[in-house]
Amino acid sequence: MPPGAGWHHLNILFIMQTILVTGGAGFIGSHLCDKLVSEGRTVICLDNFDDFYERSIKERNLEDLNKQQNFKLVEGDIRDLDLLDQLFAAHNFDLVIHLAAKAGVRPSITDPVLYQDVNLRGTQYILDCMKKYEVSKLLFASSSSVYGGNTKVPFSEQDEVNNPISPYAATKRAGELMCYTYHHLYNINVACLRFFTVYGPRQRPEMAIHKFTRLIHAGEELPAFGDGSTRRDYTYVDDIIQGIAKIAEKDFTYDIINLGESQTITLKELIDAIGKNLGILPKINWLPEQPGDVSITYADVSKARAEYGYKPTTNVDTGVGKFIEWYHAMVEA
Ligand code: NAD
Repeated sequence: MPPGAGWHHLNILFIMQTILVTGGAGFIGSHLCDKLVSEGRTVICLDNFDDFYERSIKERNLEDLNKQQNFKLVEGDIRDLDLLDQLFAAHNFDLVIHLAAKAGVRPSITDPVLYQDVNLRGTQYILDCMKKYEVSKLLFASSSSVYGGNTKVPFSEQDEVNNPISPYAATKRAGELMCYTYHHLYNINVACLRFFTVYGPRQRPEMAIHKFTRLIHAGEELPAFGDGSTRRDYTYVDDIIQGIAKIAEKDFTYDIINLGESQTITLKELIDAIGKNLGILPKINWLPEQPGDVSITYADVSKARAEYGYKPTTNVDTGVGKFIEWYHAMVEA
């Protein structure tokens, strides 16, 4: 065998993988499917086009993917155990990337039962099917919100996460714990990825950068909560996708991994950056802080860098510029 042939062989095996991506029609999921499909993997995307935001946005996300032979959309719910069973029986999945969830902190306070149902029962069914069909590798989308009111920064995977301050955060932490249980009982290898506020083209319309851009662009007043000093670690979607792809290629047993940019910006600075980019002075309506919102998120990404080769490259100034370029193209289309 020529030198390096072993690696080449492994690489080909990886490329030929069949991957189940749940929530693949959404913001992060559709970018991830784009990458996996362009690299030659077979991707089965399970998504129920949840009504959290418009269906047409998700259909647009999948427009190019639907033309690819190695991409298949299955419209359905992760809480439909019969459907999941059929899917797992029909495909020999090498890897599951589980992104489907009810997302968003504030609406989870209004409807905690629904968040529990989708995020916990849905995750439970995925794990049960993995057990039944002996699929042994899972990436689970967790969230920086599990750090709750943590004030020690940056947030490290070693930090205690026993104080989630929204139902959404509690469901994500509970998901991580159930993944651990299935790892322990059934040898399913799981990487729980704690994403730090992700933005970029196709970002969910209710999320800060997208919503602020829409309102400032329309000349409308934007509601902002608190005094503008809350800080967020905003992660550009290409960096998140790079991180997910790197981790997917590696071996792990059970791991929790932060994926962020590892830089923070205040809410006020963010609004100013968006206004500057649009060339419009923002009109801001400052409102009281919202329950469930945390004062800071800030990722320590040293584990992702050292153990998985993650290299975030897009700072928020560049990223906001790219987002606004996409926004202009979208509204003009
Ligand atoms: P998104 O809402 O755009 O994508 C989620 C997708 O899941 C949607 O397409 C939705 O239709 C689908 N879905 C929801 N319920 C479903 C169900 N019952 N069955 C099948 N599909 C269902 O959200 P996103 O921003 O792309 O987030 C993806 C994942 O990453 C979520 O798990 C979210 O909690 C997590 N996350 C996101 C961020 C972020 O900043 N965007 C940060 C931390 C964690």
